[in-house]
Amino acid sequence: MNVYDAERMADILAPVGYVLTDTPDDADLVILNTCHIREKAAEKVYSDLGRVRRIKSARVETEPMMIAVAGCVAQAEGEEILKRAPYVDMVFGPQTYHRLPEMVARAHRLAGAVLETDFPVESKFDFLPQPSAKGRTSAFLTVQEGCDKFCTFCVVPYTRGAEFSRPVDQVISEARGLAAAGVREITLLGQNVNNYHGNTGGCADWSLGRLIAELGDINGLDRIRYTTSYPADVDKALIAAHRDVPALMPYLHLPVQSGSDRVLKAMNRRHTADDYRRLVANLRAARPDLALSTDLIVGFPGESDRDFQDTMDLVAEIGFVGAYSFKYSPRPGTPAAIMESQVDEAVKKNRLAALQELLSLQQSKFNSACVGNELDVLLDGHGRHSGQLIGRSPFMQAVHVSAPSDLIGSIVTLRIDEAHPNSLAASVPEKWKTQRAIA
Ligand code: SAH
Repeated sequence: MNVYDAERMADILAPVGYVLTDTPDDADLVILNTCHIREKAAEKVYSDLGRVRRIKSARVETEPMMIAVAGCVAQAEGEEILKRAPYVDMVFGPQTYHRLPEMVARAHRLAGAVLETDFPVESKFDFLPQPSAKGRTSAFLTVQEGCDKFCTFCVVPYTRGAEFSRPVDQVISEARGLAAAGVREITLLGQNVNNYHGNTGGCADWSLGRLIAELGDINGLDRIRYTTSYPADVDKALIAAHRDVPALMPYLHLPVQSGSDRVLKAMNRRHTADDYRRLVANLRAARPDLALSTDLIVGFPGESDRDFQDTMDLVAEIGFVGAYSFKYSPRPGTPAAIMESQVDEAVKKNRLAALQELLSLQQSKFNSACVGNELDVLLDGHGRHSGQLIGRSPFMQAVHVSAPSDLIGSIVTLRIDEAHPNSLAASVPEKWKTQRAIA
């Protein structure tokens, strides 16, 4: 979502004359778009700020530079950033960046810094232009933001605010615009994307399943994905979309966090490990080739060896083909941060290593099983070697192939020849060489 937000910031600044630069050295404005989810991400802001400050100092005499901190660290720490880094000109949260042109003008006028961390009444989406998507084959589209779940480990409800769904017509027109600009794949975004409740202007809101069915009919939009979902909010319409919408890709990121019911309860997750197993069974009944990835936290306060083993067992049983896994990181203002029985750092480290070993084994196994098969690959750029193109399989695997550049932007059926830990090597099947078939 930060990638999407950053692109939208560039879009809204374009009419007032800003263009993207490749390096901060010649930028008139540097915006650090920040993440507060774990301590490591949040701390990085200050080291990055130190680096940008040096560039700013060197430029005072020539062309002055402005520095802004955006995103969730800005939202959470606000004034604190200005105290720790008084050379910062603007601090604004994830819900106010539509005001950027006005904020930039104000920062130029003012002697002091601009601080905008209130949650505004208006929706930023009502003020943003249609995204520029030229030359893109794949794009993000935020449909939902914020979270009302209050998992005890998580800062999102405090930094992104309450759940909000963009109206259906706004989403559809943005998706149509992307498809018209040549985008073949969109990933619908939201902190709780499957709790989407889009206003239609009519009587009933649309769920995510209903929205996906509609987007699946847009010409040129061949691939739809969505992230991140909350297991307890997966409803029948969404499961049906996995069965009925061919554009909906057979790969789902569905965070489970832990395999232990005791830990899930302490996390306030509102689902048990068995609920999750049942849900996966229903999804697989609808889409038998569905591959799953997840998010996992190790070392949540009170997590015992037994609890951790439950997580390992669930990971093996579901057969996740990918995952983001993290050591629990206490976040200021969240209930878990002040729970007793915080887990020792060394224990967290060992558990994370064991978990990641299992996950990478499963990922390798999944990649190896693809060798010899044909997969549809959306080619979206040049690879590292000359004549090489890269793309994504339906299962999000990176695939590289020697093929002509004019295939970029196409979905091509390729033969998978080799599996590497993080990618697949493919070739154009013999039968396509004479008569090139492009989906
Ligand atoms: N909406 C998602 C959460 C997205 S946040 C959900 O309902 O599960 C992205 C991931 O960061 C989370 O899934 C979680 O695995 C991880 N995370 C969030 N807070 C964390 C914390 N305090 N410590 C470690 N990992 C955390």
